[in-house]
Amino acid sequence: MNLCVLGAQWGDEGKGKIVDLLTPNFSVVARYQGGHNAGHTVYVNGKKFVLHLIPSGILHPGVICIIGNGVVVDPHALFAELDELQRLGIDVGGRLFVSDKAHIILPYHRELDILAEARRGERKIGTTSRGIGPAYEDKIGRRGVRIGDMADASDNGPLANAIRENVVARNRLVGNADLKADDLLNDLRKQWTRLQPLVADTSLYLHKAFQAGKRVMFEGAQGTLLDIDHGSYPFVTSSNATAGGAATGLGIGPKSVGTVLGVAKAYTTRVGEGPLPTELTGAMGDRLRETGQEYGASTGRPRRCGWYDAVAVRYAVRLNGLDALAITKLDVLDGLDELLVCTAYRCHGQVVTEMPGDTAQFAACEPVYETLPGWKQPTRGVTDFSKLPMEAQRYVARLEETSGVKAAIVSTGSERDHTIIKDKKLLIG
Ligand code: GDP
Repeated sequence: MNLCVLGAQWGDEGKGKIVDLLTPNFSVVARYQGGHNAGHTVYVNGKKFVLHLIPSGILHPGVICIIGNGVVVDPHALFAELDELQRLGIDVGGRLFVSDKAHIILPYHRELDILAEARRGERKIGTTSRGIGPAYEDKIGRRGVRIGDMADASDNGPLANAIRENVVARNRLVGNADLKADDLLNDLRKQWTRLQPLVADTSLYLHKAFQAGKRVMFEGAQGTLLDIDHGSYPFVTSSNATAGGAATGLGIGPKSVGTVLGVAKAYTTRVGEGPLPTELTGAMGDRLRETGQEYGASTGRPRRCGWYDAVAVRYAVRLNGLDALAITKLDVLDGLDELLVCTAYRCHGQVVTEMPGDTAQFAACEPVYETLPGWKQPTRGVTDFSKLPMEAQRYVARLEETSGVKAAIVSTGSERDHTIIKDKKLLIG
């Protein structure tokens, strides 16, 4: 059975650790959307690995990793990540494949990203300014460049013509822009030499893997509430972070996605702008940020922190058809007297239990909380559910009840073995 692991909140839920932990059960790990704006931090034997584009499965020898067509790839970012893995002693040779249909992030995308964010002024989205959004815009606008296009970079070939047209159009938009199409083409030619051995028809590769009975894990980036269609638009990412994205972003049938595991922190965080009903701006927010080290893995930006939002996670259960949850960072809540869980919103005088589709309405929502007792004994590193303090067990049980699905995993620290496997059957049948 295949497994899709994705974020059930606003991203940064700890998907990297969960994917890394589960990888030994799979032959292939495939990433289906986003770009190098994602940042998965994984600790193995005290060594820190930050992966942006390459699936966290790469840390396991012999496991094949795929970057699917739904991902937008900045070749320089990919090479930097490969170099870093090599430096840390990870052998990637013959184990990483990139879809020929994945779109490329080009230098003008980065410039446009910065420009668009500056133009939005007060209404800025809080993007990472890495060109991800504009690369997706070009993809949908049918003027994007795909990795497979790099194979023919001849002077008057289709790639050269597309790049020239795009550069002229961008230079008109970007003040003082002096990007030269020919410089960019030369750069792409150099990149192709290194990229070519990695490029493959990854949809076909996956199809053959399924036929050979190999198990595949699908890795989502960002989180459900940042999904381009279902998140709090426009404060979203530019791709489908939900489970449906795995099918389109890899060229596989929806039935191949298999079990869907939603990763949710035991509290809530969000980077960038947009509504966050349970946000804590005072001392408690600072405490969660410091204890949970809530700073972006890609940008170092402080994350906004708040209590657990069960309405948001329930929405993620519905949108993704979640089979189970992985609840992470329980240990961050150690030592608190009491914990609040948001079970509904009060919106224009009415109590609602479903996520409002309209972002202005969502922004007007206030959390309706229930209070649970906290615990004093540390949970960090606990590996057996029954060894958790009773209050922590009760807290997890309440998160299960409010979401309607069970927790298969409870994570109690950043290391691989700081993990409670609560129900393995839910994960891998
Ligand atoms: P991702 O993008 O969803 O993988 O999340 P990030 O890597 O951005 O952020 C998760 C951070 O939390 C990483 O630094 C992890 O090492 C860390 N982490 C994951 N699980 C736990 C946990 O259970 N407890 C603690 N304290 N840290 C965790």
